[in-house]
Amino acid sequence: MSYNWDNVISKKSRRWLMPLAVACLALLNAPLALAQAGQAAPVVKAFTPFKVIGNIYYVGDTNECVYLITTPAGHILLDTGYAETVPIVKAGVEKLGFRMQDIKIMISGHAHSDHVAGHALVKQMTGAQVMAMTEDVPALRDMKPGGKEHPIDKVLHDGEEVTLGGTTLVAHLTPGHTRGCTTWTMKAQEGGRTYDVMFGCSLRPTGVLTPALVDEFTRSFKLVHALPCDVQLGDHGAQYNMQEKYAKLQKGGPNPFIDPATCTLEADIQEAMFRAMLVEQKKPAQP
Ligand SMILES: [Zn+2]
Repeated sequence: MSYNWDNVISKKSRRWLMPLAVACLALLNAPLALAQAGQAAPVVKAFTPFKVIGNIYYVGDTNECVYLITTPAGHILLDTGYAETVPIVKAGVEKLGFRMQDIKIMISGHAHSDHVAGHALVKQMTGAQVMAMTEDVPALRDMKPGGKEHPIDKVLHDGEEVTLGGTTLVAHLTPGHTRGCTTWTMKAQEGGRTYDVMFGCSLRPTGVLTPALVDEFTRSFKLVHALPCDVQLGDHGAQYNMQEKYAKLQKGGPNPFIDPATCTLEADIQEAMFRAMLVEQKKPAQP
């Protein structure tokens, strides 16, 4: 199922939504910018670790998603959150009955500190091989969380596969939010069926939309709509109503994370915001 952004936000409401969208973006970006500039210590809160589907487990905090993908040959960790998130990740992995030292590969969604600042610490704890999309490498090299270099053991390219113990993740370049923003896809088995899982990368513009960024976002929105998806996950829980779905999961019944109808909802919202920003930018400057 796909939406035209015109259907998501009507023409009438767009007139007042546009400035609001731009103001919201500025507000959303401010705390991250402060944290990245080292001016504010991130506040993280533990969330109950849980099995999402198949061999995919949630081990992040309430806001920063971290996924443990288990295999018989060791595990893959997708994102680590802030360095402050790492104790939550470790406690989650162990509570679920797994071991940190079995994490063999670490990957990431994008080069922002709320998702990858913990990589250096987890690398120290596990010795896992850290892989990063080539377009995000310069931004990752600029990071020095706690004075530590961001580890990079292998550079990935668009469409490259990461395989461990029979599980294959595919790295799709979906740039815009960062140059190397990566949407990951994999198959998960549950109840004798196979499901397409998509780990979305943020599609939120972080500043002025240059022509190059417009091209990147346009390509990314198109790609995300075309990827096969039964289960949409993301780098922040709000992107896929994680907490609401987790609450439903506790009640039993069908797995609420299997929800193909909402797979592109986050992309639709972000595309609407992106279009609104473009319209705002094209307005002549006030005298
Ligand atoms: Zn980000």
